[in-house]
Amino acid sequence: MKLYNTLTRSKDQFIPIDGKTARIYSCGPTVYSSPSIGNLRAYIFTDILKKAIELNGFEVFDIVNTTDVGHLQSDADEGEDKIEVAARKANLDPMAIAKRYTDEFFDACDKLMIRRPKITAPATSYIEQMIEHIAGLEKLGYTYNTSDGVYFDSSRFTDYYILSKKKDSKEDKAGIRVALGEKKNANDFCLWRFAKPTALQKWQSPWGIGFPGWHIECSAIARHHFGDTFDIHTGGVDHIPIHHTNEIAQTQALTNKPVANFWIHNEFVMVDGGKMSKSLGNVYTVTNLEERGFNPIAFRYFVLGAHYRTLLNFTFDALIGAQTSYDNLVKELSKHASRASTNNDKLAHQYRTRFVEYMSDDLNTSRALAIVWELVKLSPDKLVYDLVIEFDQVLSLGLENAVKQYLINTNVKIEIPKLVKEMADKRIQLKKDKQFADADKLREEIKYLGYEISDTKDGYEITKIN
Ligand code: AMP
Ligand code: ZN
Repeated sequence: MKLYNTLTRSKDQFIPIDGKTARIYSCGPTVYSSPSIGNLRAYIFTDILKKAIELNGFEVFDIVNTTDVGHLQSDADEGEDKIEVAARKANLDPMAIAKRYTDEFFDACDKLMIRRPKITAPATSYIEQMIEHIAGLEKLGYTYNTSDGVYFDSSRFTDYYILSKKKDSKEDKAGIRVALGEKKNANDFCLWRFAKPTALQKWQSPWGIGFPGWHIECSAIARHHFGDTFDIHTGGVDHIPIHHTNEIAQTQALTNKPVANFWIHNEFVMVDGGKMSKSLGNVYTVTNLEERGFNPIAFRYFVLGAHYRTLLNFTFDALIGAQTSYDNLVKELSKHASRASTNNDKLAHQYRTRFVEYMSDDLNTSRALAIVWELVKLSPDKLVYDLVIEFDQVLSLGLENAVKQYLINTNVKIEIPKLVKEMADKRIQLKKDKQFADADKLREEIKYLGYEISDTKDGYEITKIN
C-alpha cells in the first residue's frame, strides 16, 4: 500500500512499525462551534484511510483528540482561547461548550458513516502529561519564560523545517516583519500560558497557574498512548507549517526520535470557489445540508469523488449532482439484489484486485467509485450486489440499507408463484428424506419455470432468473 507522505513529498510504501497494527493519530476538532463540512472532510479522509489500511490486512488503533482548551483565535498564538470566548458568549461553563460541540461533532460523524475512534482524547484530561512534557523540554534547555508564558525556542531545534520544507522564518511571514514582543524568534511558540485572573480554565503548574498551548496537547496525548514513534499523523494542510511543525519540534527535541513515520494531510474544502468563512455565512454544517433536503451521505459521496489531496469546491449544484448520482447508484444496485448469482469467481477476483489496487494507491477513491459503477452496469447478478456491498465496507455509503429502503419504497418484491413455492417445499422434504436425485430434478424443473433456488441456513431462498 502506498500513501503520500508530506515528510518525504512522495508516495511511500506503508507497513505498520510492528507489522500488524497501524497507530494513527488525527488532530481533532476544536470543540467551540459546530463542525463545518470542511472539518468533516478531514475525518471522511481519515475514515477511508483507516478502512483502506484494514483492507490491506492490518489492524488500526486510532486516536482523535478534542481541543477543549488552549487553541487561541489565531493558530500562531494570538488572541483569546476559542472555547473561553464561546463560553462567555453563551454564558456557559467551558466544559458545557466542549460537551455540546463534541456531541455535535460525533453526531455529524455518525451521519457521514465516519467510524468513531478507539480513543477520543479531550485535551483537558491530559494536563499532567503536558506538564511533564514541558518540564522535560525545560530540563534540556529548550524553553524560556516571558511575562505571559513558557515558550519553545525554535532556533535550538535544527530540523524545524523538516515538514514544511521552508528555508527560514522570514518565508513563514511572507517577508513581513512581525513584532516579536518578548519572543526570541518568530517561530517560537507558547507551551504553557499564564492565566489571567479572569480565565475560566486554569491549572497549577511548576511555572504558575495557567493553561497549555494548543500544540503541546497532541504531542502529549500521542506520546502517552503510542510512545515516542507511531505510524501515521493526520490533519488538514493548514497544520503543516505551524501546528504539526511545532508538534514535531517539541516531541523530537525531547525524544530525539521521529514522531510519526507518515504525516498525511487532506486539502481544504472551498465554497463557491472561495474560502469558507463565518462572515460570508457559508460555513455549512451537516444539519444545514439536511435542512435543505440532502442526505448527508450525498456529501460523503461528493467528497469521495475527488482525491483527498485536491482542493474541493463545494457548491449546492455539485451536491445536487452527487445526490442524484448516489440515488441512481442505489437504484442500479437494487436491480442485482434479489437475483440469482452467477458465482463467477474469476470476475469477482478481477474486481476485488482492482478495488484493492486503487484504494492502496494513495486512496484513489474516485477510481474505486468508478469500479462500483462499472459493476452495477453489468447484467443483473447477485454477485454484483455482494461485491458492491463488500466494497462498501470501505467506502461506507450505506448502500445495503439504502437498497433495502429503495426496494420497500418501490415495492418491487418479486412475487413467487404458488406452484414454485410448493415445488420448493417438496424439494426440501425430498432432501430431508435423502432422495437427492429427485430433489435435484425438482430444482431443474423450478429453473425451467424461471426461478433459482438456493439453500440458506434457515431453509431456502427463491430468486427470479432473467
Ligand atoms: P479545527 O476544528 O479548526 O481544529 O479543525 C479540525 C480539522 O479540520 C483539522 O484537521 C483542520 O485542518 C481541518 N479543516 C479545517 N477547515 C477545513 C476545510 N475548510 N477543509 C478541509 N479541512 C479543514
Ligand atoms: Zn494536533
